[in-house]
Amino acid sequence: MEHPDWLWRTPEPKKSYDVVIVGAGGHGLATAYYLARNHGITNVAVLEKGWLAGGNMARNTTIIRSNYLWDESAGIYEHSLKLWEGLREDLEYDFLFSQRGVLNLAHTSQDVREGTRRVHANRLNGIDGEWLTPDELVEVCPIVNTSPDVRYPVLGGTWQPRAGIAKHDYVAWAFARKADRYGVDLIQGCEVTGFITDGNRVTGVETNRGPIHAGRIGLAAAGHTSVLTSTLGVRLPLQSHPLQALVSELLEPVHPTVVMSNHVHVYVSQAHKGELVMGAGIDSYNSYGQRGSVHVIEQQMAAALELFPIFAHAHLIRTWGGIVDVTPDASPIIGRTPVENLFVNCGWGTGGFKATPGVGWVFAHTLAHGEPHELNRPFTLERFTTGALIDEHGAAAVAH
Ligand SMILES: Cc1cc2nc3c(=O)[nH]c(=O)nc-3n(C[C@H](O)[C@H](O)[C@H](O)COP(=O)(O)OP(=O)(O)OC[C@H]3O[C@@H](n4cnc5c(N)ncnc54)[C@H](O)[C@@H]3O)c2cc1C
Repeated sequence: MEHPDWLWRTPEPKKSYDVVIVGAGGHGLATAYYLARNHGITNVAVLEKGWLAGGNMARNTTIIRSNYLWDESAGIYEHSLKLWEGLREDLEYDFLFSQRGVLNLAHTSQDVREGTRRVHANRLNGIDGEWLTPDELVEVCPIVNTSPDVRYPVLGGTWQPRAGIAKHDYVAWAFARKADRYGVDLIQGCEVTGFITDGNRVTGVETNRGPIHAGRIGLAAAGHTSVLTSTLGVRLPLQSHPLQALVSELLEPVHPTVVMSNHVHVYVSQAHKGELVMGAGIDSYNSYGQRGSVHVIEQQMAAALELFPIFAHAHLIRTWGGIVDVTPDASPIIGRTPVENLFVNCGWGTGGFKATPGVGWVFAHTLAHGEPHELNRPFTLERFTTGALIDEHGAAAVAH
């Protein structure tokens, strides 16, 4: 796990830090970066059981958008999108952010109602969004099949022009490199196996490389967050599921935007190199295996071909899966836990890549102050007992 000096160092863990972050995915790395950049807190370690950004950060389909329904979600996702828009300069790293727009297709009158409602809600929140008719949407993406005689005809779609994609591993490296420059220790091959406690307070973590003490601990371990908190007797309302994606062989540029169809269960973009990047909904069973079932891919391919007949001769090259942590209202949990000095950022399910800079910003604030930032204040753990849910199933839908 050595890396060239121009990326980051490979330090030995110290005995103690002001803040320890568990999980070196995009969220953990962005949190470490903003702790240093925004709050001057640099005595920080990010502990990663595998290799840096080898979890969902390396496995996602990189869709970035902010067109969620509720004001609370609009706040955090749009904050993130605005950060993406200036991030290349901030991180001094070109991670191929491409604002090529995202189309969400509607196939039923219920889809149309949900989509138009969401466009109105987005515009009230200052988020770009339009409702497109089938004729208008083929102008944006000419290869979508809008023929009326298919199983699920396209009745229109939402369109967010500022949305798009970025190269996920470059994003992780960019945050890691900058965090490292600030003096943050990025420690790979370091699995957190439990916590050191003093009454109802955590004071450190147990790891396979020995105990590490910490003033505050932030969990950014995606599908494993609930596994970690359960060692303290804290049950989180999370279900961990496999989520799969796949890529085709390299093709000439044919697909100019990102198309998602919640109804037929597929979404597709074309990566910078030329491969089609596709994803489906979650595999419905719980699992911690980073792989999924073939029948899900099969259905996904059938859906993709119905929407894009032009892909009929494209070869599928590679499939993989990640473990996503899904909450009952399809919104994340960011903030305190019942255990003092232990904070969580989890429950991003199928859609946390887009939130990477935004959540790093607010989680860093939360860890620095011991209090939530105003943007993550609504995303508490308590909402599952108070009932103040932020139901984003309509916007999150098949995935994202
Ligand atoms: C197939 C797929 C497609 C997706 N597509 C999109 C998309 O298009 N757009 C979008 O916005 N989101 C998408 N997502 C979701 C997105 O990838 C995640 O929400 C996001 O990456 C979560 O970031 P993270 O840093 O919390 O998680 P991760 O990158 O998974 O990081 C968590 C890290 O914690 C580490 N860890 C776990 N347990 C321990 C431990 N005990 N000790 C130390 N380290 C530990 C893991 O090894 C891992 O590296 C997709 C996910 C998948 C799987």
